[in-house]
Amino acid sequence: MTKLYDNHGRPINYIRLAVTDRCNLRCFYCMPEEGIKYVAKEALLSFEEMERLIRVLVKMGIEKVRITGGEPFVRRDMINFMERLTQIEGIQKVNLTTNGTVTLQHIDRLKAMGINSVNLSLDCLDKDRFFQITRRDMFDTVMKTFHALLTAGITTKINAVVMDGQNIQDIIPMVELAKNHAVDVRFIEEMPFNGGDAHYTNLKWNYKKILNHIQEKFPSLTKVEDEPSSTSLNYKIDNFKGTIGVIPAYSRTFCGTCNRIRLTPTGLLKTCLYDDGVFNVRDIMRAGASDEQIKATFLSALGSRAKDGFEAESKRSSQLPVSESMATIGG
Ligand code: SAM
Ligand code: SF4
Repeated sequence: MTKLYDNHGRPINYIRLAVTDRCNLRCFYCMPEEGIKYVAKEALLSFEEMERLIRVLVKMGIEKVRITGGEPFVRRDMINFMERLTQIEGIQKVNLTTNGTVTLQHIDRLKAMGINSVNLSLDCLDKDRFFQITRRDMFDTVMKTFHALLTAGITTKINAVVMDGQNIQDIIPMVELAKNHAVDVRFIEEMPFNGGDAHYTNLKWNYKKILNHIQEKFPSLTKVEDEPSSTSLNYKIDNFKGTIGVIPAYSRTFCGTCNRIRLTPTGLLKTCLYDDGVFNVRDIMRAGASDEQIKATFLSALGSRAKDGFEAESKRSSQLPVSESMATIGG
């Protein structure tokens, strides 16, 4: 199998595809409540364009794809596209990140296509707080999705963003979800990708504080071995069926083993979550680029990749603080 490396010798085998910037929730850490300007449908990469691109990238060494967004399932026919992806020779894993609001009806097909795992975003287990955070009353639907995923035997991870003054009281109940369910509950440091101008320089609830908080309640919290290129630091607790993870997304401790690239809904390649885009693959495809030209452009982008998220952020062309919505990046 071909291997793809960046200029720092890191193997690259994973792409995250944000398939839409649209979403039916309004999580305040991700999107403003109003005034969102979605991109025009024609500006989105089409399914055919995404499939062609993945076929090119597989030949270069990409083996794993994550479908994210916005909310993937608000884009019509997404499940058909995912089925086609799983059939591409050389793709070993297709994963999904979803908010679980319109996912339920697709679970049988996700199982049948052999989805590798589903990351379900859920920041609390309290219906009222769910409403405050997401600005939508869909907690019960998301919980139904959660149980249906487990019943279907699909590997499920919960992503919870930890927000000072918002859901700190939910950390322990969320940890307890892993007691009786075989689920990985992962706490993510909040990042400034909120589509607004609420910037901060100091993160109160960083991964160390989150871990200390959990350890105070569960002294048996013990580190387990992480998979290579894992962004989460993973732990077990005595007599728990599932595991606990923390993702230092703002502290950026994992950049040294980063194996991933990202494509935004409009085809902008990001070689780091914190850069502001390296080139637009949609534009070169629509200008008639051959597969070989697409390959060469990717190789060139990976040949000058920032060493970590701090360098990538410092090189942003706008010089403005990070503020775009995560719905345009995919997390
Ligand atoms: N809509 C889907 C969902 O919520 O799962 C997929 C897209 S969402 C942008 C992907 C992930 O990014 C979610 O797990 C979400 O919690 C996370 N996310 C969004 N904004 C974030 C922020 N400001 N800081 C940290 N994580 C964030
Ligand atoms: Fe939508 Fe996901 Fe962003 Fe929440 S985190 S607003 S569900 S894209």
